[in-house]
Amino acid sequence: MTLTAEQVVAAIESVTGGKALLHAPEIAGNEWTYVKECLDTEWVSTVGAYVDRFEKMLAEFTGAGFAVAVVNGTAALHAGLLLTGVRSGDEVIIPSLTFVATANAVAYCGATPHFAEIEERTLGLDPARLADYLADIARPGDGCVVNRLTGRPIRAVVCMHTFGHPVDLDPLVAVCERFGLPLVEDAAESLGSTYKGRHTGNHGKLASLSFNGNKIVTTGGGGAILTNDAELAKRAKHLTTTAKQPHPFEFRHDMVGYNYRLPNVNAAIGCAQLERLPGFLERKRLLAGRYHAAFAPLAGIRAFVETDFGRSNYWLNVALLEPGNEALLEPVLTLSNQRGLQCRPAWTPMHHLPMYADCPRMELKVTDSVAARLINIPSSPRLAGEGER
Ligand SMILES: *Cc1c(COP(=O)(O)O)cnc(C)c1O
Repeated sequence: MTLTAEQVVAAIESVTGGKALLHAPEIAGNEWTYVKECLDTEWVSTVGAYVDRFEKMLAEFTGAGFAVAVVNGTAALHAGLLLTGVRSGDEVIIPSLTFVATANAVAYCGATPHFAEIEERTLGLDPARLADYLADIARPGDGCVVNRLTGRPIRAVVCMHTFGHPVDLDPLVAVCERFGLPLVEDAAESLGSTYKGRHTGNHGKLASLSFNGNKIVTTGGGGAILTNDAELAKRAKHLTTTAKQPHPFEFRHDMVGYNYRLPNVNAAIGCAQLERLPGFLERKRLLAGRYHAAFAPLAGIRAFVETDFGRSNYWLNVALLEPGNEALLEPVLTLSNQRGLQCRPAWTPMHHLPMYADCPRMELKVTDSVAARLINIPSSPRLAGEGER
């Protein structure tokens, strides 16, 4: 029997029990108390105790030495790339299957995104293909490798842990080391995900997180830079706080800095959210298990599951059509949304967007194939029950 859109939507509905958003925030803990305290004390803006507390909680939870809170994940990536040494005229390797912010952050530095292929088992960068590709196109340059086809320096590699699934970090780190390329992790989607027991965002020079409204933990809008390098953390704080030299009353800045710091009121929400993160993770795992069971009887589609080396936070659950069933993508999206099930396709791969269409890239067959078969399905933790207050 051939798979129908009706069957796919029925499988999703059997788990959600009716209408469901893709990912709704859950504000049910100490958010009210902490925000009220900010308002009562009038410490709402760019200084305040919650920013420090939020940064400490992030560092503790992820095992990273240092966390620097900023206004959003895109700003975290932008500042992170600048701190990695990315400059105008450089190229930065990124996956084409990502949210546009990854590519935009590279462009904000005046650099060019250079798109690399993913592997289907992680939905993230394929280390083996990247190694072969670099061996082919990279030549040693002055303190970095150079793309011999464009003549531009390749300054860094950014990996992204898609929908919470960690990329295969060990071989990726090895490739980066072999070519002398710093690794930046866009960990916007992977708070709570670990690779071989170690939290994502700990495997490169630095990492970026996002606390946008639909992420696993939200601050309304927010982000953070993670690093294990004390000196780098200091520079990150400086760069994202207008590069102001500490002084009781004088305003003196020693470089072009950015007004990227997270307001205290947002950090207050973040502290309350982080307190409940372990509960979110538990329920999201439960939900992923239910989707897995619901899709198991269907031939031609599967619920995407974690690898044996990566524990996923299952931020957004994925239903992946098998090759040959691409024609079902549109009907499933149309029917599910008609029924009030907020489902959506993968992002349009970056190399198909007008502003990035001419960027250098390797062969992206897997990227295009996955993008034609992937459906994000409702993933709010609440779909697996109410959490503890
Ligand atoms: C959400 C996200 C970002 C950017 O985060 P914002 O806080 O929305 O700026 C960056 N990269 C990826 C992969 C994301 O999913």
